[in-house]
Amino acid sequence: MAILVLTHPLPNDPFVSALKAAAPHVPVWTEDDLPDPNAVEVIVAWRMRAGFLPRFPNLRVLCCPFAGVDKLLGLPDLPAHVPITRIVDPMQAVEIAQYVVANALHHTRDLDRYAEQQTAAHWARHPVRKPAQCRVGILGLGEVGQAVARAFLPLGYPVAGWSRSGRDVPGVTSHRGASALPQLLAQSDILVCTLPLTPETRGLLNRDMLAQLPPGAFLINVGRGEHLVEADLKALLDSGALSGAALDVFEREPPQADNWVWHHPKVVATPHIAAQASYELVATQCLDALQRARDGLDQPFAIDPARGY
Ligand code: NAP
Repeated sequence: MAILVLTHPLPNDPFVSALKAAAPHVPVWTEDDLPDPNAVEVIVAWRMRAGFLPRFPNLRVLCCPFAGVDKLLGLPDLPAHVPITRIVDPMQAVEIAQYVVANALHHTRDLDRYAEQQTAAHWARHPVRKPAQCRVGILGLGEVGQAVARAFLPLGYPVAGWSRSGRDVPGVTSHRGASALPQLLAQSDILVCTLPLTPETRGLLNRDMLAQLPPGAFLINVGRGEHLVEADLKALLDSGALSGAALDVFEREPPQADNWVWHHPKVVATPHIAAQASYELVATQCLDALQRARDGLDQPFAIDPARGY
């Protein structure tokens, strides 16, 4: 048996090293060093070219080394009998929550304004926004969305969330399904996108939807770049309908140097760093997925291709 690591354009090396350390007896190959496709039982990959997968007749499980599987699900030749798993890393969810709260507080506590005042040696105090003006709406209440909710609750900000199934999270007002979205939007001074990218969620953050937010709302996108129609966001920022945005993910990554997102005064743009993979955890979960596949057991972190996440 062997594991194939295909994390291009990200470097394979850290994933290969972690897998070798976790299972020294197992051959770990890359595409450049692939002696026998018949021996491959696990592929660790987040994207692939069409026509590649059928080369592996003994594949037992396809492991995405990240939380989002959207790039894999676009493949036309996914074998129906091979489960697809994703990484579920509670620490990553906490890291994303840190990123979200840091950006939200930076905005709600006017830190840019005070930085400008400091530059001008200008002493002026402004009213602190009260919790009722900092209502948080979270799109997606899965691993990431729930961690974000738990991070906001002790700050006293009212927190609401939106999911397909109406997840019950203590302290969080839960909204369920498409028909409940307008209600959530109308009450979100800070809107946080933690959705997976699926045919239903692609382009969801568009002009019509963002225009339903309260005046001066702030957007934080840590889901996927394709959730947001960037040109629509720009129009709403320029008109003053929205007061700012923190974007960790983009329609195209990296955005081109002349893309407005790099330069807009109301945008914080970061290079998809809200959370970073733990290579050790990826190795452990992939090896566990293989063992389960061999034993004929369910995969706890399997995704549902029909649902898209
Ligand atoms: P998850 O546990 O699968 O949760 C997904 C949530 O989205 C669930 O609550 C689900 O509803 C909800 N949802 C999906 N489609 C929906 C729809 N059409 N309408 C309403 N709600 C919908 O996923 P996760 O682990 O939280 O990760 C979410 C995403 O975060 C990933 O797919 C990835 O894109 C992104 N991410 C980004 C970074 C980064 O560094 N920026 C890092 C990790 C992950 P149900 O609860 O009803 O199923």
